Amino acid sequence: MDSYLDEIKEKLLLSGMPYDVELIAAAYQLAFNAHEGQMRRSGDPYVSHPVAVALIIIDLGLDTDSIVAALLHDVVEDTPVPLTQIEKQFGPDVATLVDGVTKIGRIPFSSREEQQAENIRKMLLSMAKDIRVVLIKLADRLHNMRTIDSMPEKNQLVTSLETMEVFAPLAHRLGIRTIKDELEDLSLRHLDSVAYNEIEVALEHRKDEREALLENIKSRISERFKSLTLNVHIEGRVKSVYGIYRKTYMQNRAMDEIYDIYAVRIIVDTVNECYNILGVIHDLMRPIPGRFKDYISTPKPNMYQSLHTTVIGKEGIPFEVQIRTWEMHHTAEYGIAAHWKYKLGISGREQLDSRLDWVRQLLEIQREVNDSEDFIRSLKTDLAPDEVYVFTPKGDVISLPAHSTPIDFAYVIHSAVGHRMTGAKVDGKIQSLDYELKTGEIIEVITTSSITHGPSRDWLKIAKTGEARNKIRAWFKKERREENIVQGKSDIEKEFKRNGILIADAEHNEFVDSVAKRQHFNNTEEFLAAIGYGGILLSKIMPRVKDDYIKIAHPQTIQIPENITSRHTSGGIIVEGLENCLVKISRCCNPLPGDKIEGFVTRGYGVSIHKEDCPNVLQNKQNAEYEGRWVNVHWAENVGHSFKAGLRVVSSDRYGLLADLTSLLAGLHILIHAVNARELKSGLAEIYLTVNVVSISQLQSVISKFSKVQGVIEVSRSGDKR
Ligand code: MN
Repeated sequence: MDSYLDEIKEKLLLSGMPYDVELIAAAYQLAFNAHEGQMRRSGDPYVSHPVAVALIIIDLGLDTDSIVAALLHDVVEDTPVPLTQIEKQFGPDVATLVDGVTKIGRIPFSSREEQQAENIRKMLLSMAKDIRVVLIKLADRLHNMRTIDSMPEKNQLVTSLETMEVFAPLAHRLGIRTIKDELEDLSLRHLDSVAYNEIEVALEHRKDEREALLENIKSRISERFKSLTLNVHIEGRVKSVYGIYRKTYMQNRAMDEIYDIYAVRIIVDTVNECYNILGVIHDLMRPIPGRFKDYISTPKPNMYQSLHTTVIGKEGIPFEVQIRTWEMHHTAEYGIAAHWKYKLGISGREQLDSRLDWVRQLLEIQREVNDSEDFIRSLKTDLAPDEVYVFTPKGDVISLPAHSTPIDFAYVIHSAVGHRMTGAKVDGKIQSLDYELKTGEIIEVITTSSITHGPSRDWLKIAKTGEARNKIRAWFKKERREENIVQGKSDIEKEFKRNGILIADAEHNEFVDSVAKRQHFNNTEEFLAAIGYGGILLSKIMPRVKDDYIKIAHPQTIQIPENITSRHTSGGIIVEGLENCLVKISRCCNPLPGDKIEGFVTRGYGVSIHKEDCPNVLQNKQNAEYEGRWVNVHWAENVGHSFKAGLRVVSSDRYGLLADLTSLLAGLHILIHAVNARELKSGLAEIYLTVNVVSISQLQSVISKFSKVQGVIEVSRSGDKR
């Protein structure tokens, strides 16, 4: 009989769980045959690796399918056996697990940046819709780290760094302390071998002393418990090398200052017993004030629960005591995996289907207990379907909103990449530009070197991110003025037709001119161009255009009645006594909804609206020449239109300032009409922006957001539009 198989079978037996041993043996047989002739670098037959991974999975207490998948995890990638055969022989669940592990294996973990590592960890979790895939991958990595000495030195460093940055934190987040500690120690041994050896020597040096101490404490505690009829388990534990490393090297503390290098762990059956024992311990030995932590009532974010206290023993040496129940102990050691260990024994396989429910439940509980920790938030985002993580060919992770396309991807890389994009490869295959990106895919943008190439207008409909759409619009605005005008003309014609606006040719241009003026454009071409590149949405301005048209088609004289009886709105403004009159927001003071306003009846342009404190109002209100032409006006309740507002920003001049301001506006979906910046003598910069806002409160929020931008000294409204 095969010794590997014997080892597996023995472990299965010892676990005492109802495993399908025959199926596991069959998986071993398939792995054995498939990897026949392949060797590990260590000189062992290749199959030793999947066997070792399977043994770790059994230790974690996972189910039959996970063990089978662990045995087969490298078969699809490294041998001719296809996934379909695995599915046929072991069922779709196993096939999904193997496929998941294989896909994760193809992720190029090349970047070193912290953010990158975090993205990869998130991606691993979100990719693995089944958390067992991540657990098998962790076991795979653990065995590879255990055997890393046979790898070339350069690979050792890269793999260790990757393990430290991606896999150990992942194990930590899932609460699997056993794997996390071992991964960290194995990585540290290669990343900082000097420190590792130093700590190891120091620990070894005090080993006898420590063991004597722990023995002594254990016996004192046991002695005390003899009279109590409790089922108490006491063990000594030493902090992991990396744990000590973090406290000594990174927090700059001497080893003597670390209280929890040695700890005594007391495991009992119930929560009540935990607190009773705490009392006994404090009675027995003097506690150090401020060192007691109740992680039972307030669990750590990764589900850890225990009571911690630090006491001073007879010898005057402080040490930590951890008190917990068996269930808490298993959760502390195996984290999320403890779920299988418990549930499998009780009610069998059907429990596995609700595994994600369990995570959700856990999150619910955690939220109630401790909302402040980032675990909840991060695991929530991990499992949230609203983000995808994809790769550049170099292995950088790019995060995008769900349903993003290659166009969105290209514009995140760089505007120039987007503008010159002609196609995209996803995982090496050409895909259409509206292809929906999925987490884990590698995206390669195909570009042309021709500088005249640009985006297509259709991309505006395909792109999902505002960033991509803004950049596409900006390109059209800048590069295609003539084209934009033609496009704008055709768009406005279509929209006129749709709205039943029929104007004789002779009056047509004049009408469009007046519309452009109403939209505060200096000339009609600019207005048409803005429509063309999408800077102006016709659907937004059409209601007003229609109003104007009706007035032209059915002209009426503006008359001011003697008695004001009725109120009607026009363009978001109520003019007392006048029905459907043309209203024009004056450009001298750009009033906004919420501002106190005055109306002035012009000759031929309807009523112009000014701020109450506009110099034009102050100067002319009492002027006899204009008697009777000032009318009372108010803002309508719901102003559906947007308004131009001028802003003046004074800031210390710095690189990227303007970009920060404009991207802030883009984030708020606020359109910018004009930007004018100049350097002041004092080294400060003065920036005038004209923006489209819907209300005073929106403008105020822009002002307050601007004020928080780095370097900004003053933000104010400016009537003066430059
Ligand atoms: Mn492997």
